[in-house]
Amino acid sequence: MTARRIDGKAAAAAVRATVARIAADFRQRTGRAPGLATVLVGEDPASAVYVRSKVKATAEAGMEGFSHSLPDTTSEAELLELVERLNADDRVDGILVQLPLPRHIDSDRVIAAIDPAKDVDGFHPINAGRLATGLDGLVPCTPFGCLHLLKAELGDLSGKQAVVIGRSNIVGKPMAMLLLGESATVTIAHSRTEDLAEVVRHADIVVAAVGRPEMVKGDWLKPGAVVIDVGINRVPTADGKSRLVGDVAYDEAAEVAAAITPVPGGVGPMTIAMLLRNTVVAAHRRAGMADPEGL
Ligand code: NDP
Repeated sequence: MTARRIDGKAAAAAVRATVARIAADFRQRTGRAPGLATVLVGEDPASAVYVRSKVKATAEAGMEGFSHSLPDTTSEAELLELVERLNADDRVDGILVQLPLPRHIDSDRVIAAIDPAKDVDGFHPINAGRLATGLDGLVPCTPFGCLHLLKAELGDLSGKQAVVIGRSNIVGKPMAMLLLGESATVTIAHSRTEDLAEVVRHADIVVAAVGRPEMVKGDWLKPGAVVIDVGINRVPTADGKSRLVGDVAYDEAAEVAAAITPVPGGVGPMTIAMLLRNTVVAAHRRAGMADPEGL
């Protein structure tokens, strides 16, 4: 079997086009574009790249961007003060504080300071609680993007066996909650899971969010499984350069799976698309409007 390659770029482009249409409509009805504030603290090169692409995508969707770049000497109090200002700024519908933050800043405290109605990353405990209890909230972008790809691939997920490898608050746990919300039968695996290969072998759906290059092997998979690879790992190549690989050994997995996301070009583009989606949804809710249709 050679798996279908799930094209995250194309799926993300479709979501972004819908978001752009909705943002234009919002602007016409309210007299202002939905606004996203991004906050980058320090000079981590990967974080800078992520923030730049989020800012670019915001502009391309016809939304207003408010970029804040702070030095890594910024104190926690200064960052909290900025968050408060953004909470109070009516032009700002979404606030994204890029993680990781410098070590002297307590990220949990910063996340908790963001107005949950503007928490477009979906990391605030209120939004995590809403997701866990099945209430409307803002859902973390990466797992939401994975769910979008899975539904496009499989349609109804009800009754499917799903294994999520990884239990972070950013990816693994919300992914499991989303799958449960779709009535899949969900197993959450992590570093203490015994015989992971055997656990994975029962899964119709595998979501790998571990951060270990090519850890999931082809012979772990049930034939016909759908595999979503969240991992982004930079590994050295023989010519002294580096390349990106996922958490799944793509070539061998593609021999067994029915469909699989590539790295890059799979989950990554969906994360940004869902951030834009969350921002227009937050804008509508803040303006007292019904959620936009088609997202
Ligand atoms: P974390 O490091 O926060 O979590 C990793 C999880 O993997 C933990 O729950 C850990 O278990 C588990 N784990 C570690 N080793 C093993 C193992 N040997 N077997 C089974 N489970 C293991 O990472 P994130 O969730 O933030 O990110 C995961 C990956 O996804 C990373 O590669 C990251 O770069 C990528 N990522 C990609 C995004 C995208 O847009 N495509 C967005 C966000 C992340 P335990 O809890 O027991 O320690």
